[in-house]
Amino acid sequence: MPTTTAIGTDAGALLEVERLAKAFSVKLGLRRAKVSAVEGVSLVVPEGSTLGIVGESGCGKSTLARVILGLYAADDGQIRFDGTPLPARKRRPRKVVEQMQMVFQDPYSALNPRASIGESIAFPLRVQGIGKDEIRTRVSKVLEDVGLHANYAGYYPHQLSGGQRQRVNIARALALQPRLIVLDEAVSALDKSIQAQILNLLKDLQETYHLTYVFISHDLNVVEYMSDQVAVMYLGHVVESCSAEALYREPLHPYSQALLASIPSLDPTKRKLEEPVVSGEMPSPLNPPSGCRFRTRCPFVMDICSEQPPALAEAEHAHLVSCHLHTSTQGG
Ligand code: SF4
Repeated sequence: MPTTTAIGTDAGALLEVERLAKAFSVKLGLRRAKVSAVEGVSLVVPEGSTLGIVGESGCGKSTLARVILGLYAADDGQIRFDGTPLPARKRRPRKVVEQMQMVFQDPYSALNPRASIGESIAFPLRVQGIGKDEIRTRVSKVLEDVGLHANYAGYYPHQLSGGQRQRVNIARALALQPRLIVLDEAVSALDKSIQAQILNLLKDLQETYHLTYVFISHDLNVVEYMSDQVAVMYLGHVVESCSAEALYREPLHPYSQALLASIPSLDPTKRKLEEPVVSGEMPSPLNPPSGCRFRTRCPFVMDICSEQPPALAEAEHAHLVSCHLHTSTQGG
């Protein structure tokens, strides 16, 4: 399998993902076919850090998030949380469910329009059997933590702005006192100025509560701002994985180079590449290219690229890349 290793060490890791795979069955006329959404993904996320996951729509990053959270069962691979392997198909222990929370993209649909903000935040606490007084205390505390007055508990979603609603969603995730929060395009639906406020809030909360984030986004500027480590995904595989500093200074995979070259930067001197080089459409996951999955869009494609999938291997210290330009002697 091409993507089987991960940067970082197990020491201090809160989340470890090893060779994770998830496929879906889809109907094609009269027959059914398997579509691989995530394949052979390995990641290590140290406690208190942020792992950014980037890639175009359809690269598998949201599916990966849902498998990590247990919303989809993994077909293969292993997830360990704080050193403990999690069951792929059985219900996870309550303590683990509490400690792994998610914030979704759309702050509007993530809240029940008929429930007050207080009720929405309290709901998962009631499900976990927490007493009334403790719930009231926690609701007020998390609202204040996200910059809203405790009075907002009595408001309804339609009375709030988009930014306030996303603050409420973050408060709801915080209420169970998690250690890991998966943020799936959590600021993508917000205006730029509100985005900045929410990103700063997330950073403050991380520092206060020593939170660990998996931060998923298609927006590379936002990922650079938030992340310690970054994994770049393409068609269900991690193609590059390293520190955010290394990726944004010198991306090694042609896909990462194309992504970085195509984003507007406030500081053009930071970009080594000047022209967008990503071209063509992402191939259908129903019929992915042989060998390297990026070869149909890669400006550096070679004969070996269609014959052999490149392994994800260390090209530089703590910098993994899956490309025959860097790892041709280790492909397989
Ligand atoms: Fe391009 Fe080949 Fe590298 Fe794939 S393995 S990214 S096709 S050079």
